Amino acid sequence: MAIKRLLIANRGEIALRIHRAAHEMGIETVAVHSTADADAMHVRLADQAVCIGPPAAKDSYLNVAAIISAAEITGADAIHPGYGFLSENAKFAEIVEAHGLIWIGPKPEHIRTMGDKIEAKRTAGALGLPLVPGSDGAVSDVEEAKAIAEAAGYPVIIKAASGGGGRGMKVCTSPDQLETLIQQAGSEAKAAFGDATVYIEKYLGNPRHIEFQIFGDGNGQAIHLGERDCSLQRRHQKVLEEAPSPVISAAERDRMGGVVAKAMADMGYRGAGTIEFLWENGEFYFIEMNTRLQVEHPVTEAITGVDLVREQIRIADGKPLSVKQDEIEFKGHAIECRINAEDPFTFAPSPGLVKSYHAAGGMHVRVDSGLYAGYKIPPYYDSMIAKLIVYGRTREGCIMRLRRALEEMVIDGVKTSIPLHQRLLNDPTFLDGGYTIKYLEEWLAKDA
Ligand code: ADP
Repeated sequence: MAIKRLLIANRGEIALRIHRAAHEMGIETVAVHSTADADAMHVRLADQAVCIGPPAAKDSYLNVAAIISAAEITGADAIHPGYGFLSENAKFAEIVEAHGLIWIGPKPEHIRTMGDKIEAKRTAGALGLPLVPGSDGAVSDVEEAKAIAEAAGYPVIIKAASGGGGRGMKVCTSPDQLETLIQQAGSEAKAAFGDATVYIEKYLGNPRHIEFQIFGDGNGQAIHLGERDCSLQRRHQKVLEEAPSPVISAAERDRMGGVVAKAMADMGYRGAGTIEFLWENGEFYFIEMNTRLQVEHPVTEAITGVDLVREQIRIADGKPLSVKQDEIEFKGHAIECRINAEDPFTFAPSPGLVKSYHAAGGMHVRVDSGLYAGYKIPPYYDSMIAKLIVYGRTREGCIMRLRRALEEMVIDGVKTSIPLHQRLLNDPTFLDGGYTIKYLEEWLAKDA
């Protein structure tokens, strides 16, 4: 069953990214868009486009009936969900398959398992991945919670089983706060996610966020494509990512990569996935798995030469993995800057008309963006408008090139986070690679 026409159920740079991979494979593309995105680049470039609703995502990009109808009207035979929106919605994946369409993503049951954080942790533990010490599952009883927290050691963090986006978490430093915080976390989780279930973990004081990219063929073969360091975050949103991590040795990459790839092989995982760890004092602790393509996937592409979207499409089409583990070489260094339409100091969103636009270029410089002069950035969606990905043979060379590329970028008419990246690229702690997940916020506070 060869895919001939692919519907892209997303918008912005990732819709364009998927369109590009598809056309390079000789596959036609169908864009779907809200009324606010009628002039978007991915809509212009796709072979067909269907308007699926008004601006609000719940009426368009999350409108399952409209998306399935669009696939039927245009004769699409596959759907790629990108990231965000419906990408980790197991029900949507099932509906796609029930309509005889190819779902470019993991098996629905794996999306479901990994979407529940308690189930995910249990599964990861059973597959041999190292976990953050804490409760085995949901906690409800206060005495039991106290015993778990005591065993893990304070401080602990209370997390929502259905949580996401860094929400619904409470740090607890002593046993007398535990009961109140569990209740608070539970009622906040209920309000935000419709599920009051919480669990407890040891709170790691100053970890890094290190994640492994994996691919499975769904039939028991899996590979890893090394790690990405995404420790530079603001409010749990990644700002700049790099591969490889400045703190992981080649031997450690091989060892831990082997552990995650084996876990995915044992699970029979299909497609692209990311296993996220906190890393502290040389130890990895699983926190969650994302069953989709990540925003930061291009840094992995840069250092391995593997086109991850092409690989996703091939696997969904029933083909084997295009590379074997021992064929993957990690060469050089890559960094991605997420460029947002926002004030670089206050972080207030800055949508509106892009008066002029010039993308950086030159050797080893990649810009993934749907921007063009005259484009109006709509206020309804995520503020990320471009990704600048730069490769160098060494981390130092990569940083020099990235500074040069940022100088060349012109996005006139809206405020962007380019000046933030420029400052960060001159910060001594960034330069020596010794940052953790707390660093960016502390640096911003100090600077303010
Ligand atoms: P979400 O799904 O909401 O993103 P995660 O479990 O991925 O939740 O955690 C989000 C962030 O919260 C992590 O990147 C980390 O900064 C922090 N965090 C989560 N668990 C812990 C922990 N046990 N110790 C310290 N920080 C944590």
